[in-house]
Amino acid sequence: MTQATPMRIFSNSDFTLGILGGGQLGKMLLYDTRKYDIRTAVLDPAADAPGRLAANSFTQGSLTDFDTVYQFGKTCNAITIEIENVNVDALERLESEGIAVHPTPSVLRIIQSKIQQKEFFRDNNLPTAPFQVFENKAAILAAVANGERSFPFVWKIAKGGYDGFGVSVIRFASDLTALPDAPCITEELVPFAKELAVVVCRNPSGDVKAFPTVEMEFHPTANQVEYVLCPAQIEDKLKLRAEQTAIRVAEAFGICGLLAVEMFLTTAGELLVNEVAPRPHNSGHLTIEACYTNQFEQHLRGVLNLPLGSTALKTAGVMANLVGAEGYTGPVVYEGYETLLGIDGVNIHIYGKSETRPFRKMGHVTTIGNDLATARALAQQAKNNIKVISK
Ligand code: ADP
Repeated sequence: MTQATPMRIFSNSDFTLGILGGGQLGKMLLYDTRKYDIRTAVLDPAADAPGRLAANSFTQGSLTDFDTVYQFGKTCNAITIEIENVNVDALERLESEGIAVHPTPSVLRIIQSKIQQKEFFRDNNLPTAPFQVFENKAAILAAVANGERSFPFVWKIAKGGYDGFGVSVIRFASDLTALPDAPCITEELVPFAKELAVVVCRNPSGDVKAFPTVEMEFHPTANQVEYVLCPAQIEDKLKLRAEQTAIRVAEAFGICGLLAVEMFLTTAGELLVNEVAPRPHNSGHLTIEACYTNQFEQHLRGVLNLPLGSTALKTAGVMANLVGAEGYTGPVVYEGYETLLGIDGVNIHIYGKSETRPFRKMGHVTTIGNDLATARALAQQAKNNIKVISK
């Protein structure tokens, strides 16, 4: 293993880590910066961003505006992100001026575009579903007309999609009508048995570690992850293959910090990489309670070139997203919160967003148990007892 050369950060009040984005991921990352006594600065467009209170300094401003990101970055020694949609040109300039930026602007540029991301997988021989690139909807229809593209397929917008927005299964030409006309990919519809994810961390010295493979369970109508389960209910050799695949992806990118790798396990037993995120990820939240090192601390270690922590599982864990209930928009109320606090094995994380709306991620619950069935049952109980509504 390579010996990491740590940055000089401990008890060093003049070292500032800048974080682009102060949502729930930034907020949870900030908890761990406190363990390390690092100064932090957060940039976020929202005046009431959840991460605001946990940072040493907070700047309200656009993450996509060159000057705002550049000026913010000049006050930092190192920069990381909690969201991919940031101004990469500004980060490139900051990097050229000697500021450590992780993930690097070149990796971010690839990941920001589903087209470039898929081309990267293909060019690096990483297993992924076959795809085609299109400039707009007319080009898709032309390909259908001349037999180069057939139904069904999955349409994915190249830029700006998230949590299933920007992804649509297309069975007929008319399914395209309501979709935005923008550069996109079309992908073969994968017959998958399960959706898996592996969060990997790598540091600049090249040390790399994978967290245990998790399995995702989706909400039946919202196309959003409802539960994340660990250990995944698959054979050990498949878990290992998933972790090895994720490490290959992280090494191909040369990532520093976290890379969350989402995969399909096909009905034929094949693993296909779906997409990646170079930051803490929803599928890694259960590491806070279930692993020896949590994903946020691991990200800091990766970004700051410190030795990586143990990713071993201490206990079975299930994470349930707490999203805004349908039919409620406005100032948030957590109904049943006290009931959950009284249940052993239930850990609540409220993100601190002031307004709820249907399916908005407002918090999460991680339940732990000696086995997965216990943790899964507790997660169900927790979900049944809490409701995110408005006043
Ligand atoms: P997002 O970036 O919005 O999370 P994803 O690419 O992860 O978009 O797609 C969202 C969901 O759509 C996936 O979790 C999966 O359930 C489904 N999906 C995506 N691509 C395919 C595919 N090629 N075949 C079948 N289902 C897919």
